[in-house]
This record gives sequence, C-alpha cells and structure tokens, in this order.
Amino acid sequence: MQPRLVLPVLALLAIASPASARLAPSPVGKATDHLPTAKPAGIPTVGHATEAPKLKPPKYRLPIQFVRTADDDGGRPSKLTRAQAEQAIAATNVIFRRNGGDVSFVIHPASNFDDLVESTALNRDCIFAPGQTTATIAANTDASIDTNTLCDTVAPSNARTAYGLERSDRIVVFSRGGNFKVKWDGAGGHWYVDRPTGGQSWGTQSYVRMPEDFDGSTLLAHELGHYLHNPHTFNDSDRWAVADAAQAKAAMEAWVAEHPGDHPSAVFDGDSRGSFTVGDTPPDPRGSLLVAVHGGNKCDADNGSVTIAIRVNGATQNITLTPDRSNVMSYFKGCPFPQHFSDAQYDNIHDALATNRQDLLGDGGGCYSSGSDGAVVTTDNGLIATMRKIAACKLLVRKPMPWEEVMGTIYSQPGDLKPGFVKHGKLGVHAGREKALIDALRTAPVED
Ligand SMILES: [Zn+2]
Repeated sequence: MQPRLVLPVLALLAIASPASARLAPSPVGKATDHLPTAKPAGIPTVGHATEAPKLKPPKYRLPIQFVRTADDDGGRPSKLTRAQAEQAIAATNVIFRRNGGDVSFVIHPASNFDDLVESTALNRDCIFAPGQTTATIAANTDASIDTNTLCDTVAPSNARTAYGLERSDRIVVFSRGGNFKVKWDGAGGHWYVDRPTGGQSWGTQSYVRMPEDFDGSTLLAHELGHYLHNPHTFNDSDRWAVADAAQAKAAMEAWVAEHPGDHPSAVFDGDSRGSFTVGDTPPDPRGSLLVAVHGGNKCDADNGSVTIAIRVNGATQNITLTPDRSNVMSYFKGCPFPQHFSDAQYDNIHDALATNRQDLLGDGGGCYSSGSDGAVVTTDNGLIATMRKIAACKLLVRKPMPWEEVMGTIYSQPGDLKPGFVKHGKLGVHAGREKALIDALRTAPVED
C-alpha cells in the first residue's frame, strides 16, 4: 500500500538493532522466568505428543493473548474456543521448535474465551461508511475512488494498533468476525466487498489478526512468523505473480533485463531483498506454476520442481526452480511436509526479540494494561496519546520502547531536547519521526 512510509521506521529499527544486539544465549535465560509456569491446559493432549520428546526445551515462551471480538451490538462474533486456541498453539509450537528452534508460545491469562470484546472498530477490518452497504459498494464503478470513503480502514487500524501497543508484553491475536475488505473487480469494472478467510501480521505491527475461528493448522505459525520479522518466501508483488511456464519465462527474462547481474530466479526470491531479508530460502514461484506444469496438486510429492528454458543475451539457459514446500512462510504452508523456519528466518525471530518484541521476554517495566478494559481508540490523536503515554512511562523506568530505543530517535526527556524535538507535556517529541512510526505501525505491506 504505502511501503515508502515504512522504510524510515525500519531504518530506525535497524539503528536500534545492530548485529551485536542479537540475543546471546545467557542474558535472556530469564526469558522464561516471568511467564506462566503452569503447563497450559490441553497442550500435551492434542496429538503432537509423539513429537515432543525429540525437541529441546524452548528457551523463550512467548505469551499470546487471544482477543475474541464482536461488533458494538454483539454481531459478527468470534467463534474461537479455548480448545481451538490450544490446538493452534500446539501446532504452532511443533513448527517453531522443529530443527532445534528455541521459541514456543503459551496462552496469556487475559485471553477472553468466555466473553467478547464488543467493539466494531476492533472487530472489523474496515467499517462501512455512512450510507454504504454491500450493494452500494458493488454498484460503484469509480476505479480511482479513495476506498476509505466506502469502507474506513483507519479507525479499525488505530483501534487494533493502540490495543496491541498497550499490551506489548504479550502477542495480541485478534479473532475477528468482521473481516471485510473492499476489492476492485477489474473484469467486472466495479468494487465489491470481500471477506478474507486468512490472517495477517507484520514485523512493525502491534498485533496479529486471525479469522473468527481457526485450529491446529499452520496459519497461526505463519502469522506469528510475520509478527516476528519474517516476510514471505515468494515475491509478493502482483506484477511478478506467474500462472504458467510462459509467464515464468517472461518474468525471469524481464527481471534480468531490469536487474543486470541477478540470477534469473531472483525474481521469485521475495525474501532476499526488502525489509527483514532472509538469505537461505530458495526462490519460490508459488504453487500455481507447479500445478500448471505438472497438473495435480501443489503438494504432490512429485511436483516439487520445474525447469524453464529462458533466453538471456541471446543464449538459452535452463532454470530449475525448487521452492522449499516445507517452509512455513511460503504459501505451501498447508502441505503435509514438516513445516519449519530456516536458520536465517530464526535469526530474524531472535532479532525481533532483541528489538521491538523484547517486552515479550517479560521485563516491560509495568507500562502496559493488565486487562482488556479501557476505551477503544479510533482516532489518530488517540493513537498518538497512547504512544506518548507508554513512551513517558518507559522513559521513567528507562526501558526500551516496544518499537525502538526511547532515548534515541522519537522521544526524549523534555529537559534534554535534541534538534528537531519539541516539548509535549512529559516528553520531547520528534513529530516527523513519530508520524512515520504511526504510518508504519498502521500500514501493513503483507496482506496475509
Ligand atoms: Zn503471509
């Protein structure tokens, strides 16, 4: 959507995260000390018991607060049950701990399996604008319209962002029933209301959003992978999506023409560039290409590889593409292979825990809400007030912010204003960087 707004803040994150800041084994041994010591009910009984003995004990137990939402009037409620959440965590833990992974997850006690947070802003991905309905949106043929005049995504994004920031000592996972989305039907020439069935998160985002119910699939592990700084293995851009061998040939030839020196397959190696790069996953042309070439199913054992002849500088090359169909950050995440994270993806996870996710390790300084009450924030000013409240608290206890080092780039002590900072109450604020941060927190470049 607006990735340029994300970049300044990712740069800030990078400043706060030199390679030397990667988690060393010893200082974070405390990670598990602050977390629930009781074994989460149900986890050993959900069918993965045979795999557990092979795994090392997890070093980091990260708490997840499941937040079941409904509209203001109770409509479109989450249907997630505690048993489903336990299945989801059990399946997620198997994936995160595979190949010696040292992260696992537990249910945070503030999870509300017995009731609902009734807030349309928290429950909806977008809220129909006054006078708009599914029918009026489907009748709209103005391709250039600002979609927020049809369905407001800003208020929900503010509400979820503020809710998550206030609880940065746990991973907030919304189970929402109001997953509306306005999409353009290019062939039909009109807008329409879609209801995505998947989840969504990103490394700068303060929450994960999940469907109204889910269970022991790979979906939660995939979204937590995004939350902990991992992109897709494939190229997210629609421009480079390919449906068959001819399109794959054209894409590789075009990529090399635009990026001289790159290997042709780099066009499909989406996580080799951009934010939070991953260098050890193979190029991933996605399942549609495998099916177009081989027929059958993208998960079929014999369908894992394709070879495509391309012409570069007058010479023919055969390019073989073999995506890792057991990588959980691919869209082969539903295939029955042992889904896992790569070493480089795990490096990103550890970097996340050393930077904007470090409050998950249990030393948040008491700056966060302990429950699910409080007014729902829907405005920009409300979100800014939430951020400044947390920043002031963090400054007082001299703890890092949930998103970057307090003393550095956005907030400072009011008596110690650096160039570009202005005093606002108990804080010095660099307004431009604060604005960029808010945009980054609200603007997710990864759709699901
Ligand atoms: Zn995804």
